[in-house]
Amino acid sequence: MTTVRFAPSPTGYLHVGGARTALFNWLYARNTGGKFILRIEDTDVKRSTQAATQAILDGLMWLGIDWDEGPYFQSERLPIYQEYAQKLIDEDNAYYCTCSVDELDEQKKQAISIGRAAGYDRRCRDKGAKQGVLRLKAPIGNTVFHDLFRDRFEFDNSLIGDFVLVRSDGMPTYNFTCAVDDALMGMTHVIRGDDHIPNTPKQLLILAALVFNPPRFGHLPLILGTDKSPLSKRHGAVSVMAYQEQGFLPEAMVNYLALLGWSTTDSQQLFSKEEMIKKFSLKRITKNPAVFDMEKLQWMNGVYIKQANPEKLANLCREFTSQKGKIGDIQLEEIIKLYQGRIKVLPEIYQLGDFFFSPEIHIPEKICQEVLSMSGVEEVREILTETKKVLSALEIFNPDTIEQAIRTMAERLGIKAADIIHPLRAVLTGKKVSPGIFEVAALLGQEMVVQRIEGGLCMVR
Ligand code: GLU
Repeated sequence: MTTVRFAPSPTGYLHVGGARTALFNWLYARNTGGKFILRIEDTDVKRSTQAATQAILDGLMWLGIDWDEGPYFQSERLPIYQEYAQKLIDEDNAYYCTCSVDELDEQKKQAISIGRAAGYDRRCRDKGAKQGVLRLKAPIGNTVFHDLFRDRFEFDNSLIGDFVLVRSDGMPTYNFTCAVDDALMGMTHVIRGDDHIPNTPKQLLILAALVFNPPRFGHLPLILGTDKSPLSKRHGAVSVMAYQEQGFLPEAMVNYLALLGWSTTDSQQLFSKEEMIKKFSLKRITKNPAVFDMEKLQWMNGVYIKQANPEKLANLCREFTSQKGKIGDIQLEEIIKLYQGRIKVLPEIYQLGDFFFSPEIHIPEKICQEVLSMSGVEEVREILTETKKVLSALEIFNPDTIEQAIRTMAERLGIKAADIIHPLRAVLTGKKVSPGIFEVAALLGQEMVVQRIEGGLCMVR
């Protein structure tokens, strides 16, 4: 059975790269009916925090990436690593090194001065020390692996050196815990970022020394910004949860992340989760860097918003507004229906539709001049006065009755409906562009409409 994992170190939030790694492993597990394990690599006690673990779990849950086993915490598995460290010592595959930091620095300097690789010179190999840092006795030769997404890699073991497995304080290192756990947890594939390529030969050496079958390794391409430099804060948020806060939908985010290094033969862009699982294949993962394009993500989010259930969107909007201390509107769902075809992120509703959310509106000077104080000021005044009369007389106030009333009024006065609609839109919304004005007026309600026309009339001059 395929067994894969996501193994974050809890030293910060879940970032875009980590989320993409988790997603690809998850998609592969789901595609093959395998198992996806979550393992928290928290043996670096100084840098690991519970808050970061929680942030990572929150990020995964928001994206809908569920795990079949775990989370396992490496900090709770220390006796296991001790056991395997002892096995390596007993079988003469590891030894204690007592070199001080100064000594190691000195070795490094010397190596560089004679043009040798700056690794540890193995001087404690045969000392038989009983404590210190534990180092792997790297065999002479080369370590080779065939990457799932790239070519063959070959490393000279002498350059890898006798690296550290357990620190002098007894804490095992990342390479050691990772290799042991990947073996014990039965990983068939290790799919992770290509920054881990230098770790793979080390982990292979550990696995070989412990006579464990190695998993297949695949290193995902780097994620770049649109300027082709590695993705960083300069390109926008790197934390996945920041996208939630900015009004992105998890479905859009997952869809977008899936395309960072993977594609179908026909370059399909939009996938339901089920479709993504069905079509996902390791064969279609590229080795070329993937580009994180904010505009494309926004476009995709817009598509998902357009298709989403308005009630669901309203609930999400309420979360935003309560976060920001605004009061949710009971008509939010109806307002969303007016905007969901034209926004890219949810909070845009509060910018484009600001006139729905506060009783007072501000009509910018520019709009007053263009719409309300056109050549025929008197005419605009008359039109608005008449509109107010007509609309306040309506017994049923809905988009149809409003439209009917406006069209009848236009006919009666021998003017175009647009001559009424433009000033009406200006006084109701403070804008030149809005969703259909009859829908807008109906949602604002008769009382508010009358009040805003009166307010607008004061601006006609
Ligand atoms: N814990 C490592 C990290 O967060 C990843 C380990 C791995 O995937 O092998 O970078």
